[in-house]
Amino acid sequence: MRELELYRSHELAEKVRGLIRKYASALRSRGFKIIKLMNFCGTHEWTTVHYGLRSLMPREVELVAGPGCPVCITPSLCVEHAIRLSLEGVTVYTFGDAFRLPATREVRGARSLREAKALGGSVRVVYSFMDAIRDAAKRGCEAIFLAIGFETTAPGYAIPLARGLVPKNLKLLSALRLTPPAARHAILATVERGLEPVRGIIAPGHVSTVTGAEPWDRLSRELRLPAVISGFEPLDLMISVAILLRMIYLGRVGAEVEYRRLVTWEGNVLAKKFISEVFQVSDAAWRGLGVIPDSGLELAGPYVKYDAYREYGLEIPDGREDMPSGCRCADVIMGLAKPVECPLFMRACTPSRPYGPCMVSSEGTCAIWARFGGGGLADKVAREVGL
Ligand code: SF4
Repeated sequence: MRELELYRSHELAEKVRGLIRKYASALRSRGFKIIKLMNFCGTHEWTTVHYGLRSLMPREVELVAGPGCPVCITPSLCVEHAIRLSLEGVTVYTFGDAFRLPATREVRGARSLREAKALGGSVRVVYSFMDAIRDAAKRGCEAIFLAIGFETTAPGYAIPLARGLVPKNLKLLSALRLTPPAARHAILATVERGLEPVRGIIAPGHVSTVTGAEPWDRLSRELRLPAVISGFEPLDLMISVAILLRMIYLGRVGAEVEYRRLVTWEGNVLAKKFISEVFQVSDAAWRGLGVIPDSGLELAGPYVKYDAYREYGLEIPDGREDMPSGCRCADVIMGLAKPVECPLFMRACTPSRPYGPCMVSSEGTCAIWARFGGGGLADKVAREVGL
């Protein structure tokens, strides 16, 4: 508790802000006009917007959101498969966010699992995979679980499967994805498009409790960019920014762990063992981003008998044409556009009636900007771009 209070200390925040200014100024004198730092966790974006951290940054420091929302990047085809199966009598279990996630194409009159349920589809919202396991075992119904998430949630599927707890009637529709390959993809996209390059990575704290710091260190050294694994208090993020600016100033690469309260270099060895026992890494589609090599988890070995794609002969998403018309989520996810630069933001697309995937989850960049934009930076930028 005392440690948490430390992370809310106004005095410490002022000191860290002073450090951020100092290093930004030093970098400015070396000719840096913009120092773009990218986060890869929706919760980091939430903290940044909710606490107005962008307003505390010197004008050179630009904090941008990357592809860190699992709901946003789940391919439309996975949702479409789930809608169709639910309307054919297969019970679909999933989380609340995925329940509201709009597909690009309508399936038998429904664009989301929520709409499918309203049309009589068999859809059940659960808090965990274990809830679905218990319910499917009790009911004995033909069922699938629409499994979305990153490395953080993967053990929640792998452990029950490895321990033989999953009944035969429950299959997994895996949309599980791995974050470092997507981070690489988004960072390289800014370079390929000739945009201001990303100078540093704010790596996801939750994911890293499982993966450890090592994959971010590897990515950092490959891309020649510093990375800091950050916690989720506002001060965690400010300290991470200060560390990144210092590393840029000193020309250092590699990963530093700011979130030492929970993240180790090796990560959760047991959780990783279960993941590698049950899943294999595969090329996978990310909504709006296309197929990213080695970025997905598919069931492997004896666990393929739980694979919903095989069981129902479902097409594997290939990442093409995966956003609703007019939605700029693909650019928002890659940090290439701000939500307010989408003409549909808070017009045809709102948190209560999401049109695109970034407006659904509390981790979606558009939903975060919509919720906390009032009187904040989102409004300021909206005025600047004429909305
Ligand atoms: S505001 Fe809506 S339509 Fe526009 S990019 Fe965001 S989610 Fe997509």
